[in-house]
Amino acid sequence: MSKQTLSFQAEVAQLLHLVTHSLYSNPEIFVRELVSNASDACDKLRFEALNNAALFENAPNLEVRVTFDKDAKTLTIQDNGIGMSAQEAIDHLGTIAKSGTKDFMGKLSGDQKQDAQLIGQFGVGFYSGFIVADKITVESRRAGLQASEGVRWVSGGSGDFEVETIDRTARGTSVILHLRGDAEEYLNAWKLKQVIGKYSDHISLPILMEKEEWKESEKEGEPGAMVKTGEWETVNKASALWTRPKKEVTDEQYADFYKAISHDFEAPLTWAHNRVEGNTEYTQLLYIPAKAPFDLWNRDKKAGVKLYVKRVFIMDDAEALLPSYLRFVKGVIDSADLPLNVSRELLQESRDVRAIREGSTKRVLSMLEDLAKHDRHDAPAEGTDGVTDVVDADDKAKEGKYSKFYAEFGAVLKEGLGEDFGNRERLAKLLRFASTTSDTVSVGFADYKARMKEGQDAIYYITADNLAAAKNSPQLEVFKKKGIEVLLMTDRVDEWALNYLQDFDGTPLQSVAKGAVDLGKLQDEAEKKAAEEAAEAFKPVLAKLKEALKDKAEDVRVTSRLVDSPACLVVQDDGMSTQLARMLKQAGQ
Ligand code: ADP
Ligand code: MG
Repeated sequence: MSKQTLSFQAEVAQLLHLVTHSLYSNPEIFVRELVSNASDACDKLRFEALNNAALFENAPNLEVRVTFDKDAKTLTIQDNGIGMSAQEAIDHLGTIAKSGTKDFMGKLSGDQKQDAQLIGQFGVGFYSGFIVADKITVESRRAGLQASEGVRWVSGGSGDFEVETIDRTARGTSVILHLRGDAEEYLNAWKLKQVIGKYSDHISLPILMEKEEWKESEKEGEPGAMVKTGEWETVNKASALWTRPKKEVTDEQYADFYKAISHDFEAPLTWAHNRVEGNTEYTQLLYIPAKAPFDLWNRDKKAGVKLYVKRVFIMDDAEALLPSYLRFVKGVIDSADLPLNVSRELLQESRDVRAIREGSTKRVLSMLEDLAKHDRHDAPAEGTDGVTDVVDADDKAKEGKYSKFYAEFGAVLKEGLGEDFGNRERLAKLLRFASTTSDTVSVGFADYKARMKEGQDAIYYITADNLAAAKNSPQLEVFKKKGIEVLLMTDRVDEWALNYLQDFDGTPLQSVAKGAVDLGKLQDEAEKKAAEEAAEAFKPVLAKLKEALKDKAEDVRVTSRLVDSPACLVVQDDGMSTQLARMLKQAGQ
């Protein structure tokens, strides 16, 4: 292919503009992105070579080399991974294939700080090179192709790029950054080592840099300089973090690893690192993020858990590893029992994978239970037995985290009621709502039960679009009058999710908007009698109303649930609630 000039996809051009304008305050992340691409490329080679060892071309030691040239002002990140064909370079470096790109673009606010966070989550990847470079040259040859089938890709980071075929014997990719004047600090071994240590220590292949040593100048009176020795040294730990014993890993290292795999700027809320032994052996390192990603509701969103088999990366969107209602969890699962060439289809069917999925789900739930236990709000924490817990520093650090978690991910968690029957009870305990006695979303079913009135035999709730609508519903009047707490549910998923929960710990859940709410023992004899008499007295009126409303209402009843309002709408006990009906209507059903 002779040299040709091609245009970036419109989204790429837009993203490039953002990258250079929003991320300049945190330029060093380009190192993380380019090293992680190099590492991904090596993982891909190793994976493809499982079925085709010839791809190694007798050079099976995979590595990343970082070099710089002070005179040319270039910094090069080179790998001997899978490489790219010319077409792949055009496709992968000229377009964004990620789902949700449009979504992401729409979320940008123009506020540089906020956008920088979003861009970080999105993973700007390769294009982050343009934060520090005004020109990038990529030279590559795909494993298995001829030396004559190499490719050179060059771009200045605005509208277009050039590609041409070149001769290249070395397998893999070199990304050559032509640094801007203000980014020359990266032409320094010490600086580079420091940034690599910060972002890429966990990369499981060696990152090599050429050793330097101090040399005095031969000319009298001239300063000496660092010169390259031709020897290479490994500058990262090159041990996968999750394979290290817990005791040897600091909180900071756990947090850094999280940031590296999630592209999040913020530290995680909590994590769990365990070796699971038994029939299926695996290591799990699972994180709960502090903030929901912009694409939490995107149905094609990749799951956040990476699958490794004996430290070899297998895939990073393994939905089979956690149910979709836990899609916010990030982390790594490394199994010794799965075959290295495991396919997606095989994953779905594997007994080991099922065991891993179950074990990981339970682990996430217990992390959440632990946070919930330490989240002190005025209601008694679950599991308290009257004995005041000794609060240690660790507990203290967990305070308030569950509310934070719940505000971000509570609605997703509720999907679990319909999705994960086996854990429904544990999930129910983790749910929190606002109520007629609490404006904050902090009331659990257990808190509610502990406060139930004598004679009350149901947990009452109401669903509505928002808190104000819920609170002012005429359906609540009698409950207010009698001082009975009612849970206020305002998430769109509540209605659907509660279909899957008949009761909590033996106490039935009862929507106050359904049928003839039976207050049972909460109603005294006189009230009952009055209601019966009224029903009798109003019979003729009811018959007329029924006739008049016959196409609109199934039934018309006298009720004792109203105090101030003259009438209200309710649905049949087995009917769809008004809220659900409205939701379905909105969805065009
Ligand atoms: P991501 O890594 O999330 O896919 P990037 O922008 O970092 O996004 O990279 C885009 C694509 O370019 C990669 O998916 C890969 O196909 C290709 N690519 C980037 N760097 C390399 C490399 N060093 N070797 C081979 N392919 C690469
Ligand atoms: Mg990348």
